[in-house]
Amino acid sequence: MFAKIESERLNWIRHNRKKLRSEEYIHLKDAITATDGQLSELGKMVVLPSSFTSGSRYMHERTQDAMTYMRHFGRPDLFIAFTCNPKWPEIVHLLNHGQKSHDRHDIIARAFRVKVKHMMKLLSKGCIFGNVRCHMYTVEWQKRGLPHVHILLWLEDKIRPESIDEVICVELPDSNIDPALYEIIRTTMIHGPCGHINKSSLCMLNGTCTKKYLRCFREETQTGEDGYPLYRRRSPKDGGIVKQIEK
Ligand SMILES: [Zn+2]
Repeated sequence: MFAKIESERLNWIRHNRKKLRSEEYIHLKDAITATDGQLSELGKMVVLPSSFTSGSRYMHERTQDAMTYMRHFGRPDLFIAFTCNPKWPEIVHLLNHGQKSHDRHDIIARAFRVKVKHMMKLLSKGCIFGNVRCHMYTVEWQKRGLPHVHILLWLEDKIRPESIDEVICVELPDSNIDPALYEIIRTTMIHGPCGHINKSSLCMLNGTCTKKYLRCFREETQTGEDGYPLYRRRSPKDGGIVKQIEK
């Protein structure tokens, strides 16, 4: 269905070049001048306008937007990755008998899009991290996997090093205080087991975990030289929570 829609759009562009005034495109004009008007030497017959999603003009325009944000507001404050979970009730609910989530890309795409839209509304209008100056995001589809989105947020009040722990946490939540959050973390955010207990884990290379687990305990968050903070990860004696997790 996607291929059908895309070819319809391409056809429309092909047949409405006069309306789109594509002969006015600046690079096309340059190219025509460069070949002394020998149009047969120009390879492409149709120039995709910037309104054609994922076309080169579209991508170029988005890149320019990103550069403008950087120039005006400096570096973004938050980089948020948001992944599709095939166990979301909205997806599971719509599967027919015997189907797995990867059989229904249509459902995954729609559920994910609705959630991304909602997430962006929460972040920008809901001011979860404070007032947002601007944002941008890009959706990626892993080859056989699920979509995920990378979000950049520029905040009006920059996040200070001392407030990092209020925004991000790599510790287990207390299952008595927030059982729902604990359940999400337990089922989706735990890496391993790997290392000496499970040498055949996919993340293992030459006897060590390529994702650098297990990480060591750290009493306080430290901001490193390379822009990657080392997050607080309290040991049991400093008040960190320890759980035995069944996979
Ligand atoms: Zn590992």
